[in-house]
Amino acid sequence: MEKIICQGCGSQIQTTDPDQTGYAPPSSLEKETILCQRCFRLKHYNEIQDVSITDDDFLKMVSSIRNADGLVVHLIDIFDVNGSLIKSLQRITGDNPIILVGNKLDLLPKSTNQRKLIHWLRSEAKEAGIKVLDVFLISSVKGYGIEDLTTELERYRKQKDVYIVGTTNVGKSTFINRLIKQSTGLKDVITTSYFPGTTLGFIEIPLDDNSALIDTPGIVNKQQYAHYVSDHDLKMITPKKEIKPRIYQLNSGQTLFIGGLARLDFIKGERQSFVCYFSNELPIHRTKLEKADALFENQQGELLSPPDKQTLETLPKMTESTYKISTEKTDIVFPGLGWITLNEKGATVSAHSPKGVSVSIRKSLI
Ligand code: GDP
Repeated sequence: MEKIICQGCGSQIQTTDPDQTGYAPPSSLEKETILCQRCFRLKHYNEIQDVSITDDDFLKMVSSIRNADGLVVHLIDIFDVNGSLIKSLQRITGDNPIILVGNKLDLLPKSTNQRKLIHWLRSEAKEAGIKVLDVFLISSVKGYGIEDLTTELERYRKQKDVYIVGTTNVGKSTFINRLIKQSTGLKDVITTSYFPGTTLGFIEIPLDDNSALIDTPGIVNKQQYAHYVSDHDLKMITPKKEIKPRIYQLNSGQTLFIGGLARLDFIKGERQSFVCYFSNELPIHRTKLEKADALFENQQGELLSPPDKQTLETLPKMTESTYKISTEKTDIVFPGLGWITLNEKGATVSAHSPKGVSVSIRKSLI
């Protein structure tokens, strides 16, 4: 195929992979103005669609922000902070100021202390080497916090461009679509935008005559469950509603299975509560540690599901890491799946997750 460029964003047109940049259905190539599917939808439905790109392309593209002068808005998923915070962001965006926006606030229990959460996010960002100007909590689906955020963005951007950066699945498209619908009278939101040194373009949504909101493609995070499960299972593990914490009083020698995707063994310590934050639809089973291996062996994909059959075919083998919990209020995080909070210190636990999905511990988020 000869090299065809999308008139909207400048990416090279391809007709094979709908999830990658530049995809256009073969039939659309006969039209006079050729647009990739993403630009087509943006132009005709005012709707943005996310595409994913490789790590290298992502770095190249986002690094070009370093040479620009604007405000960077880093959108993260507060249900999966560890998986969605881009640790190298400061390095790749240079001196441009960064605002951190935690999306999907509607998923956390209503009782969540938002001030504390903002403080927590700020320190997580700091630990990841990202200096943030401000932190906001929003729900793109419900609309919480959007008005406040847009007012503050207007103030912070000082008439400059705004770059929206985030990993896939954080809700970037939902967020931008909301902004587009909110700004009235926007018909042609695409303007051509080529960045020197890359073959890919960003999409620009004009904010005023001289500046724009710029959407950058999302990078795929391979360290989270989403990367390893079928579409059907992804629906089950992705929470859609406020999470109802499920509390288990455990003695040492007991095990919790999160479907058949994760497992936590309580090896040693005083009886205490294990507070589980997972999608309400994800079944949790409690069993004796001594029976856990056999149960997993015989029942993964059956009683212990998800995984469904399709996921089972590709899911990596489980690996185990052991932690001695040394501080009060600690979360054991299964990235993209959820977390379990231990309120007391002193327990020794063993967390099992598929190889490639690393469990981590953190100071409690809620
Ligand atoms: P993108 O890949 O970053 O563009 O993410 P999308 O906008 O496609 O959203 C990914 C998933 O997260 C979809 O299932 C959305 O419905 C969901 N989502 C986006 N924003 C929110 C939110 O504020 N709350 C909840 N509960 N889900 C959200």
